[in-house]
Amino acid sequence: MRRRIRWGWIFSVVLTIAGIPLAYWYLTTTVLAPTMRLATLRRQPPPTLLRVPVAGVRVRQLVDTWGGIRSGNRRHEGIDIMARRGTAVVSAASGMVSMIGENGLGGTVVWAVGPGGERHYYAHLDSVAAIVEGQDLLPGDTLGFVGNTGNARTTPPHLHYGIYTDSGAINPYNRLIPPWRRKAPAAGP
Ligand SMILES: [Zn+2]
Repeated sequence: MRRRIRWGWIFSVVLTIAGIPLAYWYLTTTVLAPTMRLATLRRQPPPTLLRVPVAGVRVRQLVDTWGGIRSGNRRHEGIDIMARRGTAVVSAASGMVSMIGENGLGGTVVWAVGPGGERHYYAHLDSVAAIVEGQDLLPGDTLGFVGNTGNARTTPPHLHYGIYTDSGAINPYNRLIPPWRRKAPAAGP
């Protein structure tokens, strides 16, 4: 007497076998790779000299705008770099895109994690470049384009650039200037 083939059973075996590499692929690309990349970045020393994060802007054009008074008793936790709308905003350091989003103050923003686990913040963007969260970055990679979104909508277009360490915001100004041209940093908040 012939046995009936249990197709359902065969189907589940095939699905299981196919599922193991699929689950492995999913875990490595979406969970393990970014986690390991972040761990590697945290172990690296923060770069002493960063790339000016707006294309075409020279070091001598930079103005130290750290610590200025802002609305709601806030202090300015970064540097504003004036540029024409649509100018490319580029990554100041190597690293990984950690978040692309919107918020009330910053408007359209990009966050990236760099060496030493520093979080680099690019705000008031007109638009974001063709990047995705989790993407690797080299200094100079285009992140977006200068605008005046968020609370900058009443001001001329500029990039707000901030650096956050585990102990809070630090002044990016001197990090953008070659060491031999640095002066004593302005008092922070
Ligand atoms: Zn600003």
